[in-house]
Parts: sequence; structure tokens; C-alpha cells
Amino acid sequence: MGKPTGFMEIEREESFERDPIERINDWNEYSAPFTDDEMKRQGARCMDCGTPFCHIGMDIDGATSGCPVYNLIPEWNDLVYKGKWKEALDRLLKTNNFPEFTGRVCPAPCEGSCTVAINDPAVAIKNIEQAIIDKGFENGWITPRIPDHRTGKKIAIVGSGPAGLAAADQLNQAGHKVTVYERADRAGGLLTYGIPNMKLDKDVVERRVQLLRDEGVEFILNTEVGKDISADEIKSSYDSVILCTGAQKHRDLPIEGRDGKGIRFAMDYLTRATESLLDDKVQAEEELDAKGKDVIVIGGGDTGADCIATALRQGANSIVQFGKHPQLPIKRTEDNMWPAYPQVFSLEYAHKEAKYKFGEDIRQYSIQTKKFVTDENGKLKELHTVEMKKTRDENGMFVFEEIPGTEKVWPAQLVLIAIGFEGAEQPVLKAFDVHVERNRVDAKYGDFQTNIDHVFAAGDARRGQSLIVWAINEGREVAHQVDQYLMGETALPTVANM
Ligand SMILES: Cc1cc2nc3c(=O)[nH]c(=O)nc-3n(C[C@H](O)[C@H](O)[C@H](O)COP(=O)(O)OP(=O)(O)OC[C@H]3O[C@@H](n4cnc5c(N)ncnc54)[C@H](O)[C@@H]3O)c2cc1C
Ligand code: SF4
Repeated sequence: MGKPTGFMEIEREESFERDPIERINDWNEYSAPFTDDEMKRQGARCMDCGTPFCHIGMDIDGATSGCPVYNLIPEWNDLVYKGKWKEALDRLLKTNNFPEFTGRVCPAPCEGSCTVAINDPAVAIKNIEQAIIDKGFENGWITPRIPDHRTGKKIAIVGSGPAGLAAADQLNQAGHKVTVYERADRAGGLLTYGIPNMKLDKDVVERRVQLLRDEGVEFILNTEVGKDISADEIKSSYDSVILCTGAQKHRDLPIEGRDGKGIRFAMDYLTRATESLLDDKVQAEEELDAKGKDVIVIGGGDTGADCIATALRQGANSIVQFGKHPQLPIKRTEDNMWPAYPQVFSLEYAHKEAKYKFGEDIRQYSIQTKKFVTDENGKLKELHTVEMKKTRDENGMFVFEEIPGTEKVWPAQLVLIAIGFEGAEQPVLKAFDVHVERNRVDAKYGDFQTNIDHVFAAGDARRGQSLIVWAINEGREVAHQVDQYLMGETALPTVANM
């Protein structure tokens, strides 16, 4: 274990972030580098408790608790504490293909179920994970692993997000020839076009994609399956196909004035911002540039937070974020006890930045947008809202009621709709003729097989919009199944045999 008395002597260090004063002026990662010594101290806080809930991911009351890829957290905490970084890296890579992504952007459900967190701040697991993998790259310990045998089997993966990349990595290492089809000009899915650069530097994503290329995975970009190449051609050319197309079907807000200029989906906004950052030739569309504008983000989740951080860097005049739900409590309530994911108030990186810039928390809770109003040129000029009360109906279900007299008008020239996703985009699923249930591919977790012979599905396309760590889990698990299907046996790991 770490230091036996570490959790009593050492406090959790919270400041592994750059100062907002500095970081809102650039697009570099907001996290700050940490020293070996700092990480050693944080690793020392691990109790190596008898039942480490931190390393087993499960759903409790609809939220993930513990690590969905079963990272061997107490083991690598101990190794970091002892300065055995290479051994810690070997342990980490046993369970997680891409710790450089999760170490930066995972919401760390492991920390909510850390035993130290029962009455103290959790062990800084996510930071330690990032430190281990970053050291691995810095020291040249991560090199291409070229498989020494090839099976002759060919696999097509549609979609290059974390699910597709994890499946590609596993199946390539098993000796199969893997080809990944991606409609965007860069691989990575939401890791590339979705999550902004200040959370996850695009060089970090490209470094991993290049490593996979060096190991033998082929990427075919700018190619939409079902349009640029038919599903039938893919099915007949490969021994197995895995659909990892994500769940990016927007949820809209069809209220009065919705077709005004300046009311856009968050994903269009975030994608264009990253495109223009990565490619000087891509100009930010005027409508999607927050500079000098009053910006309102509708939706209280992480996508909304990413819009805030982006609009700040573009020089927005003001930013407000609307959330439907009331503010969360400061501490856990009785119906949200450890080891469930803590549903408590927090300031995300974007909220800290906005608070620094505008002097207050920019979130508005329990609020509903009633209509958009445009000027004579059809450009957005204001939003009308009303406050809501969250209560339970006679069946005990939550319902929202308008509070009379709380109507308000907000000036705005840019509104970003970030109220979630309805599920997987349907055209590609129709092209493969796979069954769909509630907008997701109907394939059972554990076997991932669709109704179509040799076509499998994994990640958000199967599960609905989720987390990177779950996408990695599903990529690994589907790889296990596909290898078994093709070879009649498999040595690829599954969480069931770890
Ligand atoms: C703005 C935003 C921020 C987020 N931030 C976080 C975060 O901080 N932490 C976290 O854990 N999770 C976060 N998430 C969720 C996380 O990104 C997703 O759960 C994860 O990326 C899902 O992985 P995936 O591989 O299943 O799909 P995706 O990452 O969505 O990738 C699907 C890929 O398939 C491609 N594709 C689709 N159809 C076709 C086709 N017909 N032909 C070829 N290619 C196709 C798409 O272009 C895309 O590249 C965020 C999500 C959003 C929207
Ligand atoms: S992947 Fe996420 S849940 Fe797992 S150890 Fe890392 S931060 Fe925690």
C-alpha cells in the first residue's frame, strides 16, 4: 500500500490547474504539470482498503461509481508512492488503452467511491493516472508494439472515437487487420471534435492515433459509411464489422423563434472552434463566433461548460448558463451516500474561469426558455424565460412547474443549445439494417452482436451518450467478443476474467 498513515498526514492537493487569469488567454490545456514528488505524496494517501470500490465500475442510482475499465488503482498508487513509475505504467496499461485521455477528462467516478472520501477528500486518482502515462511518453517507454503474427482476418470499424480506437487497438494486437472508417478529416471522434483543446490537447489525441497507425491500424478518413461507401460493400469485404458511430443526434428546443440567426447547437459551435484552431484556413463563421456577444448556453451539463470556456476565449461580452434543475447541495444527501457518485455542487474548470472573468457564478438554475425573439433581419436579440419549481407528482415522479411572475427577458446575440443528445444518428444504422431501440443500436452488453450476422456495435451508439471511460470499456469488450467469434477462442481480456 501507499504510506500506511498517509491518508491521515497528507492532504489532497487541489491546485493542479493553471491560474484562470493566465489560461483564459490561450487554448492550451488548463491543467498544470505536477512534480514526481507531488504525485508520490498523493499516492501515499491511498489506504489500500480491503474492498477498493474505486476500481470496479458499476451503476448506482443511474450514475457510474468506480472505474469502468477496472483500473488497478491501489496497485499503481503504491508503485507511484515507491517511485516505481515504469511498473505503475505496466499495471495501468493492463486495463486502460488510453490513460492520457481519461487522466485528463474523465469525471473520475473512481474518486467518488474512494474509501478515503467517506470523510476526507478522495485520493487524487485521476491526476496520478495522467502523471503515470505522461511520464511513460516523456521517457520513451511507449513505443509501437507491432504484432508478431497476423491471422489473415479483416475487421472494419466504423467511427474513430474512443470506442472505435480501443477496439482497433485490442484487435490489432490480436493479429487481425483492422481498418477504421471515419467521416471527419481527423480521427478521434469527440476526443477531437467535441472536447475542446484546453481540456484535451489535440496533439495528445493525434499522438495516439499515429501510434496505432505505426502498429498497423489503417485509418480511412473523410469517408462516411453509408454514403461514400455502402454498408453492403463493407459487410462483404470484411470478416467482421463494428459500429462505433457515437450518439451525436442533437436534442433540439423547438420553441417560438428557434429558426432565428444566432441560435445554434453546441456541437456545431465546439466543432467549428476546434477546426479553426487546428487549421488556419478554416475561418470561424461569424454566427458561431462569440466575440463581443452576449452568449447564453442552454443546458447545465458538461457540453454547456465546454461552450462557456470556448466563448470566454473568443472574447464574449457576457455569458450565462441556464440549467433546468435546482442547484445541487454542497454535501451528499441521505439518498446519495458513498459509494454512489457524489451529486454535489462543484465549480467546473469553465465555471471557475467565468467567475474569475465576470466576478460571479454565471449559472442560472431552475429556468426554462419560453421563446426566442429576433430583430427585423431575423437575428436573435433576446430570450424570454420563466423560473421553474421541481416537485413530485402523485406517483412520486419529478415534475417541473412554472412559477408565475418570474418571467424575464435576457439580451443575447448567440444562444448555444446544449441539452443533450437523442441517441445515435440513424442513417448509418439503417444502411446496415441493424435493429434500433430508443435511438440506440439494439445489441446486448457482453456480446455486442446486432441482429445482422458479423456486425457488432459498441460505445455511445449502443449505450447512448456516456463517458470516454465507458467507450474504452465497450471497445475492449467488443474486441474480446469479435476475436472469439472469428477465432473460436481468445486471449483478449474482458472485465469478467480480470
Ligand atoms: C462536448 C462534449 C464533451 C464531452 N466531454 C467529456 C468529458 O470531459 N469526459 C468524458 O468522459 N466524456 C465526455 N463526453 C462524452 C464522450 O466524449 C463520449 O461518451 C465518447 O466520445 C463516446 O465515444 P464513441 O467512440 O462511442 O463515439 P464518438 O466519440 O461520438 O465517436 C463516433 C465517431 O463516429 C464517426 N461516425 C459517425 N457516423 C459515421 C459514418 N457513417 N461513417 C464514418 N464515421 C462515422 C463520427 O464522426 C465520430 O468521429 C463529452 C461529450 C461531448 C459531446
Ligand atoms: S479512467 Fe476515470 S474512473 Fe478510471 S481510474 Fe481513471 S479517472 Fe478514475
